[in-house]
Amino acid sequence: MQVERKVYREDHEQFRATARRFIEREVVPHMDQWLKDGIVSREVWMKAGREGLLCTMLPVEHGGGGGDFGHSAIIAEELARAGASVSFGLHSDIVAPYIARLGTEAQQQRWLPGICSGEQILAVAITEPGGGSDVKAIRTSAVRDGDDYVINGSKTFISNGFISDLVVVVCKTDPAAGAKGVSLVVVETNREGFRRGRKLDKVGMHSQDTAELFFDNVRVPVANRLGEEGKGFAYLMQELPQERFIIAVTAAAKLERLLEQTLEYVKDRKAFGQTVWDFQNTKFRLADVKAKAVALRTMVDHYLAEHMRRKLTAEEAAIAKLYATETLWQCLDDMVQLHGGYGYMLEYPIARAFVDMRVSRVYGGSNEVMRDLISRKL
Ligand SMILES: Cc1cc2nc3c(=O)[nH]c(=O)nc-3n(C[C@H](O)[C@H](O)[C@H](O)COP(=O)(O)OP(=O)(O)OC[C@H]3O[C@@H](n4cnc5c(N)ncnc54)[C@H](O)[C@@H]3O)c2cc1C
Repeated sequence: MQVERKVYREDHEQFRATARRFIEREVVPHMDQWLKDGIVSREVWMKAGREGLLCTMLPVEHGGGGGDFGHSAIIAEELARAGASVSFGLHSDIVAPYIARLGTEAQQQRWLPGICSGEQILAVAITEPGGGSDVKAIRTSAVRDGDDYVINGSKTFISNGFISDLVVVVCKTDPAAGAKGVSLVVVETNREGFRRGRKLDKVGMHSQDTAELFFDNVRVPVANRLGEEGKGFAYLMQELPQERFIIAVTAAAKLERLLEQTLEYVKDRKAFGQTVWDFQNTKFRLADVKAKAVALRTMVDHYLAEHMRRKLTAEEAAIAKLYATETLWQCLDDMVQLHGGYGYMLEYPIARAFVDMRVSRVYGGSNEVMRDLISRKL
């Protein structure tokens, strides 16, 4: 890609080298097995923790890397480049921040070291079978009983649902109060009454375990609540922009890598006595992809610099997520086409990306919800 990247410092690029080596050594050789298993090994989480690749933004005193969002973005970019669906980002940059920012000192000391080392794997459970977009309409309840909450309800589409040890559960502590009745409670998955449903059979991202979760009178101490009761919706609104922006960072890196791979393919593949690259149609299509990839890179790096200064707004994160995932999807379709039948074979990175990336227009908040958020400021 010809855009000079000015957003990263020297220490970021050194960290990239470590992350890339780790992924080549500890992730890529296992991907086929994990795709078959529908889950990655616990071992890779522990190894990533030992190598300092989990929770890179969290403070060193709790076991984190003491870095900034640039380090997190590098891991997302390197996983995207390798075509690996491993949910380190969800754990480190989407769920752990709830505990790091909202947790009391006691909660942080209790949970963060194991989270940073990879011993305790995280999930966040917002979506329910009845709906995910309208968060304030969730129905899972947490009813106070002495020093405990008693949780009842069910969640679905939960990433790390099968492997997780700690789940940040979004529940209603006051069903009559709408958005003001939502609270966040950490549930240890060995608690009585907690049950995982089936591992869901997804279109793509087959190495990530996505599951249903059931809560049947699960008793959790009130001390497991994050932040204040009734403020859960506001906390989600503070943290969701980072989740959305990571999706944009991934999409930009993915698009650049897929363009390289598609160029390699079309320059090698022959049809009608010439290479596929020799057709003017191929050149024009890939020129369009290049222009879009450059535009996307420019936008993402601009917002990345903003986010490293903690200036990225919810609207900007929604713009980044919307533009990145829609652009990637348009380009993917063209690049699949240029691969012919091989573009439909999962052993080719383009086909794998086609099934893996479709969901990015839906999860992290559907792109229609992004448009709604953006339009409110127009
Ligand atoms: C692979 C995968 C992993 C996921 N991981 C997690 C996870 O870890 N934790 C978690 O809590 N959830 C997770 N999700 C759920 C995901 O965030 C939701 O699927 C998403 O937010 C949409 O919710 P929904 O599926 O209930 O769709 P619905 O809310 O039923 O919406 C369906 C469609 O209706 C339209 N729509 C909805 N609202 C509006 C609106 N305001 N304006 C216009 N149109 C609208 C959109 O087209 C939307 O796609 C995951 C989903 C998938 C597929």
